[in-house]
Amino acid sequence: MKYANLFAGLAVLCLLAGSAYAVAKLVPAEVDEKTCTGCGKCIDRCPEGAISFNEKGLAEVDGDKCTGCGKCTKACPFEALTISGSS
Ligand code: SF4
Ligand code: SF4
Repeated sequence: MKYANLFAGLAVLCLLAGSAYAVAKLVPAEVDEKTCTGCGKCIDRCPEGAISFNEKGLAEVDGDKCTGCGKCTKACPFEALTISGSS
């Protein structure tokens, strides 16, 4: 019985961790086109190659590649990149 409770607890923890990972994967970075200057610093910093320039010469995030790591938000000198739920 003691081990059953332990395994049940571990199962719940695994489920919570999996859910958190899934949510993170579903929250890509977003570019504020009014603030983006097209400097390209975020493109160099993205480890997934998820950012490119759009037809206007501004940053654009590929939501399928973005893992929500947040490195681009720290690299942008103009705070044009955000991840929903973060500041
Ligand atoms: S959050 Fe991470 S993976 Fe997504 S675009 Fe920014 S640097 Fe790339
Ligand atoms: S670092 Fe910021 S301003 Fe520069 S291209 Fe990326 S989002 Fe735009």
